[in-house]
Amino acid sequence: MAINTLRFTSKQIAVAPVKLTPIDKDAVGRFATSLQFPTISNSNWIDTIAFDQFIHYLDSSFFLVDSLLEKEVINDYSLIYKWPGRNAQLKPILLIGHTDVVPVEEKAFSEWKAPPFSGKVENGQIWGRGALDDKIAVFSLLEAVQHLLKANFQPERSIYLAFGHDEEISGANGATVMAKKFKEEGIEFEFVLDEGMVVLEEAMAGLDKPVGLIGIAEKGYVTLNLSINYHGGHSSTPEKSTTLGIMSKALSRLEENPFPGKIDGSAKLLFDYVGPEMNFPINVVVANRWLFNGLLKRQLSSAPATNALIRTTTAITMIDGGLKDNVIPSQAEAKVNFRIKPGETIETVIAQVKQTIDDDRIEVSVFESGRNPSKVSSTESFGFQILHSTIKEVFPESVVSPALVLAGTDSRHYGIVSDNIYRFLPVQVKIESLHGIHGNNEYVDIEDYEKCIQFFIQLIQNATE
Ligand SMILES: [Zn+2]
Repeated sequence: MAINTLRFTSKQIAVAPVKLTPIDKDAVGRFATSLQFPTISNSNWIDTIAFDQFIHYLDSSFFLVDSLLEKEVINDYSLIYKWPGRNAQLKPILLIGHTDVVPVEEKAFSEWKAPPFSGKVENGQIWGRGALDDKIAVFSLLEAVQHLLKANFQPERSIYLAFGHDEEISGANGATVMAKKFKEEGIEFEFVLDEGMVVLEEAMAGLDKPVGLIGIAEKGYVTLNLSINYHGGHSSTPEKSTTLGIMSKALSRLEENPFPGKIDGSAKLLFDYVGPEMNFPINVVVANRWLFNGLLKRQLSSAPATNALIRTTTAITMIDGGLKDNVIPSQAEAKVNFRIKPGETIETVIAQVKQTIDDDRIEVSVFESGRNPSKVSSTESFGFQILHSTIKEVFPESVVSPALVLAGTDSRHYGIVSDNIYRFLPVQVKIESLHGIHGNNEYVDIEDYEKCIQFFIQLIQNATE
C-alpha cells in the first residue's frame, strides 16, 4: 500500500504563473449591457426581437473584430468568425459559446436579488441571466480577440469562433448547421473548446485546492416510455394485480436496481489526476483502488452528484394513468429519463431496462429521440496539454483534472470535425454559484469575468503562436 501511494505521482504540468494582462476598463460594462437583451430560446421558439437587437449590439461593441475578422451569419443569429493564421499547414482551433439563455419564470422574478435582465453591476458582481451560461464565454472570447487584434497579434494557426443561438433547445439551427458547414468545407480542428466545466472550489473532501475540471466527454440522454394495456374494470371487484400496480412495480424495480457503478474512463482519470494532490489518508485510499474499490464506490454512490459520475442514472419523471377514483384504468404510461455513461448506449440501456422490469405486460419504447454519450477525448492531445498548462498559468493554485460532463452542450455537434473536444469555462467558483445556472440569481464576480478574458488571451496565444 505504501509503495502504491508513493508511486502515485502527480500528473500536474509544472509551469510558472503568467503576469496577467490588464483588461480594457470598458469590458465589464459591455458584458453587463449584453445581459439586458432577453435572448431567450424556449421549446421551439426564440425571441427574435431580442436577438436582432443583441446581434446589432454585439457588432457595434467589437468594431475591430467586426472589421478585421471574416464573419458569417448562419440562420439569422448564429455567428462564425474566422481569424486566418499565417501557417495554413496547421489545423485551426475552434472556440465556441452560445448567445441564447433559458427563460426566467415570472413567479421567480422576486427571488432574484437583481432583476434577471438588468445587467446590474453592484458590489463587485455582474448580475443577470447569461452571466455564467453562456454569454460570459461569448463576450470574454470577443474581448480576448479584440485585445489581441489591438496588440497586432498574428496567430500562426487559424482561429475560429462559433456562437450558436439555440443551444438550450438542442442546437438544431445553430451548432448542428455550423458543424455540418465546417465538415462540408473539409475543415478539421486541432481542438474544440466549449462550456461545461469550471475551476471548482471546495470540490471534494481531502483536497484543499480548487480543481480546474476539463470535460473530456459528456453523458448521453434518453427517455423511455413505459406503457401498459391491461384489464380495466370496476374498483369494487379488482383482480389481484391491476394496471397501475403492475406499472408501479416496474418503476420501483428500476429504482431499486440502478445501473452498475464503475470507476473507469473519466472517473478513473479524475482520481489519477486529483488523487496524488489529496491529503493523507484519502490519497492512500485513492492510490490503492484495488483494495478500496468497494469503499470508494459506496462513497461516490451516496451523493447524487458523484453517483452520476460513475453510472447511468435512472430518474422517473412522469406518470399518467387513471381517470376516476372508482374505475380501474386499462392503460397507464410512465416516462423514465436516463443519462447514459460513456461505454453504454441507448440500445444497452433499453436491454437492461427490459431485463430489470422482467414483465412482458410493460412495453418499452424510446420517447422522442435520445443521444448516445459523446466520444471520450484524449488527455494526451495538444489541446488538452495546452488547456492544462494555461489553467496552471492563470489559476496557479489549482489542480487540473479531466472530468465527465453530466449535462449536454453544443460541443457534441462538433464530433464530426474534431476528435479533441473539451468543455471548460475559465471561471473559479464555488458550487453554490453554479446553482444560478438555469436557476435563480445568476451572477459572476467582476474579478472572475476579467480573469476569464485573461485566460482566453493566454490560451489563444499558447495555442496559435
Ligand atoms: Zn450553456
